Amino acid sequence: MAFIYVFAITVVMAAVIVIAIWPREGKWGINLSRVFCPKCKEPMPMVRRPRNERQRLWGGWTCPKCECEMNKYGVEIVDDEV
Ligand SMILES: [Zn+2]
Repeated sequence: MAFIYVFAITVVMAAVIVIAIWPREGKWGINLSRVFCPKCKEPMPMVRRPRNERQRLWGGWTCPKCECEMNKYGVEIVDDEV
Protein backbone atom coordinates (compact mmCIF):
# COMPACT_ATOMS: atom_id res chain seq x y z
CA MET A 1 0.00 0.00 0.00
CA ALA A 2 2.93 2.32 0.60
CA PHE A 3 3.44 2.50 -3.14
CA ILE A 4 0.15 4.36 -3.56
CA TYR A 5 1.24 7.06 -1.10
CA VAL A 6 4.63 7.45 -2.76
CA PHE A 7 2.92 7.67 -6.13
CA ALA A 8 0.40 10.24 -4.89
CA ILE A 9 3.12 12.42 -3.32
CA THR A 10 5.17 12.24 -6.51
CA VAL A 11 2.19 13.32 -8.62
CA VAL A 12 1.38 16.23 -6.29
CA MET A 13 5.02 17.39 -6.22
CA ALA A 14 5.25 17.17 -10.01
CA ALA A 15 2.06 19.22 -10.34
CA VAL A 16 3.38 21.87 -7.92
CA ILE A 17 6.65 22.14 -9.84
CA VAL A 18 4.87 22.42 -13.20
CA ILE A 19 2.59 25.18 -11.87
CA ALA A 20 5.57 26.99 -10.30
CA ILE A 21 7.63 27.09 -13.51
CA TRP A 22 4.75 27.46 -15.97
CA PRO A 23 5.02 30.78 -17.84
CA ARG A 24 2.67 33.60 -16.90
CA GLU A 25 2.90 35.20 -20.32
CA GLY A 26 3.09 34.28 -23.97
CA LYS A 27 0.99 31.89 -25.95
CA TRP A 28 1.50 28.98 -23.57
CA GLY A 29 1.17 31.05 -20.44
CA ILE A 30 -1.70 31.00 -18.03
CA ASN A 31 -3.36 34.07 -16.65
CA LEU A 32 -4.98 33.60 -13.28
CA SER A 33 -6.04 37.18 -12.73
CA ARG A 34 -9.33 38.71 -13.81
CA VAL A 35 -9.42 40.10 -17.34
CA PHE A 36 -11.21 43.28 -18.30
CA CYS A 37 -12.25 44.44 -21.73
CA PRO A 38 -9.53 46.75 -23.11
CA LYS A 39 -12.20 49.07 -24.56
CA CYS A 40 -15.12 49.25 -22.16
CA LYS A 41 -13.52 47.75 -19.02
CA GLU A 42 -16.24 45.16 -18.71
CA PRO A 43 -15.02 42.23 -16.57
CA MET A 44 -14.87 39.03 -18.54
CA PRO A 45 -16.63 35.95 -17.14
CA MET A 46 -14.43 33.44 -15.33
CA VAL A 47 -16.09 30.65 -17.25
CA ARG A 48 -15.14 31.20 -20.84
CA ARG A 49 -17.33 30.34 -23.79
CA PRO A 50 -15.05 30.34 -26.85
CA ARG A 51 -16.47 32.07 -29.91
CA ASN A 52 -13.96 30.74 -32.43
CA GLU A 53 -11.13 28.27 -32.95
CA ARG A 54 -8.40 30.58 -31.65
CA GLN A 55 -10.27 31.28 -28.43
CA ARG A 56 -10.85 27.56 -27.98
CA LEU A 57 -7.14 26.81 -28.41
CA TRP A 58 -5.43 29.80 -26.82
CA GLY A 59 -8.02 31.45 -24.66
CA GLY A 60 -9.38 34.94 -24.85
CA TRP A 61 -12.79 36.49 -24.92
CA THR A 62 -15.15 38.41 -27.10
CA CYS A 63 -16.60 41.22 -25.03
CA PRO A 64 -20.36 40.73 -24.62
CA LYS A 65 -20.82 44.51 -24.45
CA CYS A 66 -18.74 45.91 -27.29
CA GLU A 67 -17.78 42.78 -29.28
CA CYS A 68 -14.10 43.62 -28.79
CA GLU A 69 -11.83 40.59 -29.09
CA MET A 70 -9.00 40.13 -26.63
CA ASN A 71 -6.52 37.44 -25.69
CA LYS A 72 -6.30 35.74 -22.33
CA TYR A 73 -4.35 38.68 -20.90
CA GLY A 74 -7.01 41.19 -21.85
CA VAL A 75 -5.01 42.65 -24.73
CA GLU A 76 -7.09 43.61 -27.74
CA ILE A 77 -6.60 41.42 -30.81
CA VAL A 78 -6.43 43.51 -33.94
CA ASP A 79 -5.46 41.00 -36.60
CA ASP A 80 -6.07 37.26 -36.74
CA GLU A 81 -2.53 35.97 -36.52
CA VAL A 82 -3.30 32.53 -35.17
ZN1 LIG B 1 -15.94 45.63 -24.20
